[in-house]
Amino acid sequence: MNKGILDKPESNCGIVGVYGDKQAAHLSYLALYALQHRGQESSGIVCSDGNDVRRHMAQGLVSDVYADPKIFNYLQGHIAIGHNRYSTTGSTHLINAQPLLLTGKDGPLAISHNGNFTNSGKLRQQLEATGSIFQTSTDTEVVAHLIARSKEKEFSAKIIDALRQIQGAFSLVMMTRDRIYAIRDPYGVRPLCIGKKGHTWFIVSETCALDILRAEYVRDVEPGELVEVSENGIRSLEIDKSQKRHACIFEFIYFSRPDSKIFNENVDKVRRKLGKNLALEVPTDADIVISVPDSSNTAAVGFSRRSNIKFDLGLIRNHYIGRTFIHPKQNMRDFGVRIKFNTVKGILKGRRVVVVEDSIVRGTTLKQLVKLIRQAGATEVHVRVSSPPIISPCYYGMDFPSKEELIAHNKTVDEIAEFLGCDSLHYLSTEGLMNSVSQEQGGFCTACFTGKYPIDIENNIGKFQHETAKTKNDSY
Ligand code: SF4
Repeated sequence: MNKGILDKPESNCGIVGVYGDKQAAHLSYLALYALQHRGQESSGIVCSDGNDVRRHMAQGLVSDVYADPKIFNYLQGHIAIGHNRYSTTGSTHLINAQPLLLTGKDGPLAISHNGNFTNSGKLRQQLEATGSIFQTSTDTEVVAHLIARSKEKEFSAKIIDALRQIQGAFSLVMMTRDRIYAIRDPYGVRPLCIGKKGHTWFIVSETCALDILRAEYVRDVEPGELVEVSENGIRSLEIDKSQKRHACIFEFIYFSRPDSKIFNENVDKVRRKLGKNLALEVPTDADIVISVPDSSNTAAVGFSRRSNIKFDLGLIRNHYIGRTFIHPKQNMRDFGVRIKFNTVKGILKGRRVVVVEDSIVRGTTLKQLVKLIRQAGATEVHVRVSSPPIISPCYYGMDFPSKEELIAHNKTVDEIAEFLGCDSLHYLSTEGLMNSVSQEQGGFCTACFTGKYPIDIENNIGKFQHETAKTKNDSY
């Protein structure tokens, strides 16, 4: 798999819900296309016509998973939820793909989850000790068992009862035979928003999925809110509104698409500001600014505008590698970077170059890129990073390497510059980061930069990796 080539945290999952269109599955598929960047391991859709509930899911990209048009003859109904997965807990087997679909005494329940329950290991042990049998190794299944055991009468009250026992970062879309529920954890760590077109309601991780559907953005699902969507429209219920918002700031830096609006702000606008603030913090004498495409493009434009140094395309990214690139041999590892990026020699030769990168995890990719840029004839290479040093992993739904593997956990900025082989290195300060976002709607989680985690982390997190017996996929 090529997922390690870029030395980036893997983004978590993309979730969607559609209510009130007889092509609900097809609309979910389009939305999942727009959210492909949030998960590339597997994709699934569950739909309901008010009576029958059907699911199709498979490993692979959206374009592969739904390639056969007959799938949409099978996925009939006016209600659907979907999911693009990148695993953060649970193995990568298809059995752990989502939406999860289970049946209990209240009928079928499908769940799409973006985030990470931080107390799921303990809850799972308690549930297993009292008789629950789990089908998957995902933390998502825990919530289904808690709902099934709730003593509340109304189904929405059962969901609230279950979620009040869960800690962590989660945005969820759930579906029964006749309704959809959209939920955000009390800290509002992951994005989730509501859209509408005519009589059809949409729930999506990012607004870029509303754009493809030509739906209008209505509002975000609020932190600690449960939104029920039914034939009566939407109804807002409270899970827990007592916490202060801690939205994931990394969504702005890297994970979300620049054409999305999340947490009530345009990602593009924030990314430009990150670049501008970076340029303000450390004026640099150089001839051109280049980005590490694609995630650093917008910050590099912001840097260029503020510094008055011309932006140019000195690195070109190959988008057509596919999912199966395997390093031929361990000692040929830099092929991984070369196959992904190439330099434009005419742009770089004889120039003093500023390279804007959005974040550094292990530093391995950037080290290779600095070397390539020098080989292309750059006379100086100055690395500017539009986020502070990453010193701690994420436990809220992003896949980071361990603390020990994070280069900024082990090295000073000077040591990192030496490792990268660049002439100078500067990271955006935490103040510069916070000055780039609006805090009118609430605060942000910055734990991977500060080590201050807003939500308790269970001691055994990361050990929750049960392997389960394989069961038959009910897919079409
Ligand atoms: Fe986001 Fe970092 Fe907090 Fe994780 S630790 S939620 S990546 S800011």
